[in-house]
Amino acid sequence: MNLHPQKIVIKETIEATKQKWIDLSLKIHAHPELSFEEFQASQWLTEPLEEAGFTVKRQLLPELPTSFHAEWTGTKSGPTIVLLAEYDALAELGHACGHNIIGTSAVCAAVSLKQALGDIAGKLIVLGTPAEEEGGGKILLAENGWFDDADAALMCHPRDKTMIFRGSLACVDVDITFKGKSAHAAANPDQGISALDAMLHSFAAIKQLLPALHKSANVHGIIRKGGDATNIIPDHCEASFLLRAKTREELALVKKRVYQAITSSTEAIGATCTMEEGLTYAERINNRVLSHLFKDNLEAIGVEVDASDIQSGIGSSDIGNVSQLVPTIHPYIKIGEAITHTPAFTEATKSEEGMQGLLQAATALALTAYDVFEQPELAKQAKEELAATLSTKGGI
Ligand SMILES: [Zn+2]
Ligand SMILES: [Zn+2]
Repeated sequence: MNLHPQKIVIKETIEATKQKWIDLSLKIHAHPELSFEEFQASQWLTEPLEEAGFTVKRQLLPELPTSFHAEWTGTKSGPTIVLLAEYDALAELGHACGHNIIGTSAVCAAVSLKQALGDIAGKLIVLGTPAEEEGGGKILLAENGWFDDADAALMCHPRDKTMIFRGSLACVDVDITFKGKSAHAAANPDQGISALDAMLHSFAAIKQLLPALHKSANVHGIIRKGGDATNIIPDHCEASFLLRAKTREELALVKKRVYQAITSSTEAIGATCTMEEGLTYAERINNRVLSHLFKDNLEAIGVEVDASDIQSGIGSSDIGNVSQLVPTIHPYIKIGEAITHTPAFTEATKSEEGMQGLLQAATALALTAYDVFEQPELAKQAKEELAATLSTKGGI
């Protein structure tokens, strides 16, 4: 290990206080809260930040009551670095995505940096970003300007592998309501218009369409309401689809084709339909300048890293939208063999290996933030890289 003496102080500060962070992470794990309802976790994460002298604002938006912003400004000017904290859990499964580790690692990194350095050239922020699983909290925060001043956004996610580069897909949720006309299914079916037939016809049309869409595209649908009684022709049915593609540009094309398929299938039956879209999740851009810093720091503290350049992913996350605005990293830290969103991963996120991952992630985040404060030209390079990437891709 060949660490700068100041980095050794940061690392040792985390080691000396590790039990506090392990306890905090386990407390959040033991009280899982769903998206938008993470009141306890938000309170527990902000307490050590307040104690350390960060200025804390809570409820940044009325629709995100559990969001927070904790800020420490140094005496000299310099870059603004944002550490992102997630802390929502999954229904039935609890912390099966390890957001107890994400939230705690961000807070641990920030508090330890302040304790170890005493002063910085710039501003260090911990942004509490709720509702990653269900509500796209970061998208709402980004749309409302909470990333406008950021020069770098850093977070680290637990999983079954330590990885630096992994992308995520653009996606959008669509709820569809089909309207027809009810009639007795046996007595006078000719008087009815089946919303159910319109819906089933739409499912079949989308399935036939899939091979013609871009390779990265995928469309999943479920039926939410299919009628009330078998002897009544349903006049109201509901379905939901999740559309994904490699980029938002490709997603727009997928959406157009899917909407055409639904509309024409519905019209063929004589019914009508309405579509209601959720937030659009953007694809992730991993900033290479910052990613390499994080990789070097992980390796310097003895963590083996897979830095193969896998920019595509199969999932989607609201970090994608942040990564289109600010140089961003979303690497992964290994906490065992289990796969996210499974009961085994819920066990892993409170295991000894989980807690080791928490401290490794916090240390690498803190050391990466330190690098950028010490060498502000890195923030400039990271921004130039993002600008160049967006100019070739088209941006948001
Ligand atoms: Zn998840
Ligand atoms: Zn997650």
